[in-house]
Amino acid sequence: APTIVWLRRDLRLADQPAFAAAAESGAPVIPVYVLDDDVAKKYAMGGASRWWLHHSLASLDADLRKLGSRLILRRGKVHEELAKIRRDTGARTVHAVRHYEPWWRNAEKAVAKVLSLECHDGNYLAPPGSVTTGSGGMYKIYTPFWRALSERMPPHDPLAKPHKLEAPAHWPASDDLADWDLLPSKPDWAGGMREEWTPGEAGARKRLRAFVEKARKYEESRNLPSIEGTSRLSPHLHFGEISPATVWHAVADAGGSVRTFLGELGWRDYAQNVILQYPEYGSRNARDAFDAIKWRHATTELKAWQRGQTGYPIVDAGMRELWHTGWMHNRVRMIAASFLVKHLLIDWREGERWFWDTLVDADYGSNAVNWQWIAGTGIDSNMFVRIMAPLTQSPKFDAAGYIRQWVPELKHLSDEDIHDPKRAPKGYPEKIIGHAEARARALAAHAAMKEEA
Ligand code: FAD
Repeated sequence: APTIVWLRRDLRLADQPAFAAAAESGAPVIPVYVLDDDVAKKYAMGGASRWWLHHSLASLDADLRKLGSRLILRRGKVHEELAKIRRDTGARTVHAVRHYEPWWRNAEKAVAKVLSLECHDGNYLAPPGSVTTGSGGMYKIYTPFWRALSERMPPHDPLAKPHKLEAPAHWPASDDLADWDLLPSKPDWAGGMREEWTPGEAGARKRLRAFVEKARKYEESRNLPSIEGTSRLSPHLHFGEISPATVWHAVADAGGSVRTFLGELGWRDYAQNVILQYPEYGSRNARDAFDAIKWRHATTELKAWQRGQTGYPIVDAGMRELWHTGWMHNRVRMIAASFLVKHLLIDWREGERWFWDTLVDADYGSNAVNWQWIAGTGIDSNMFVRIMAPLTQSPKFDAAGYIRQWVPELKHLSDEDIHDPKRAPKGYPEKIIGHAEARARALAAHAAMKEEA
């Protein structure tokens, strides 16, 4: 009987343990992707992710065809679709890479009731949940987590890509990818994304090769948004087009400050370790005290932030980069996120939602962990009262070139003036709120919250 490989965020052939296990079984293999828009409820994929998914699936199908196989596309509830394929083809076993989003854990349970499901780990440096303290519990804080994870490194040697995948006697029916409407039609807002990204395994490899040269200088360049000092692997890693073990082994010997980079891959693992302990991390303050803070319901200001019209050049540059390319530099993500939560005193969950819809690397664990860390509502930080000053951060990280690129209204200003224009040029908004005033308002809201507790 044929074997099913059930695909989700693991759209690769190399170091893909589900494909490796299915190929090794010697049975014919049926690779299946099921689009289920209901499974994740409000975490259904956002627009940027759907754009990425379309191209990633097309790329995987093309790669599979080179091996004499193909990708079967189905729409509906995963366990129902897989059960239908079982009926049509006689397949009994499903191989899959394990995922840790709460909705995927539920879906795995549902699938295991109708077929024999074998889940494999391979999307993280170590299986989430397996890095434990001396007393066997999971870590809550990054630094000790990373220390313990490091002791288990290097990760496994990446598995080879299968040479051949035996085709079944009859292929089950497949949807046509074009009918899934994953791409924007009118307006076509994806032009900037097409320029920046090549979704798929080959695109991921290319990014990795380009980064290997730079890895030793990571520490010096990672905080400078005007240069391309980071790997830009995040959407590829999110969709599983490349495994973190592959990335690790490609760069680990680069020397210089590559260790700092490996620590960022550790953050990715850490985020999964957090959502495994707190499945609702994306929508609940980990510190209950924050349930009492009086967030402002300021729709116009939220819109100004989303559109990059706050009058703070570094924030606006970041928000426009995000809208255009589906990605934002990490340093600028921190500044822009902090600005929403503290300067505008808007609930971090509004920011989390916007990022969910617009990031090509939108990831339940990483997004929630970073937002709660910035907001100071998370298990791992008490950052609320540390209010970042965007106007100081901008020259500190040499963002003039970056602002010029994304906020063309300001491009004629000098390197000194561009961070904080004395008079806003025509077409560029005045500051939405002054820094000192915003800071005082945030601290007052925090103090009132503490009083209530
Ligand atoms: P590099 O610097 O090259 O790092 C290598 C890899 O490590 C990244 O590709 C990513 O997989 C991982 N990584 C790096 N930093 C972090 C981090 N702080 N937390 C978790 N993983 C990390 N990252 C996402 O992948 N998805 C998200 O939805 C997401 N939301 C964020 C929201 C906020 C408010 C902030 C401040 C950060 C968020 N990040 C998120 C983390 C980080 O900004 C991106 O992972 C990084 O900018 C991706 O660029 P890169 O691939 O060039 O990173």
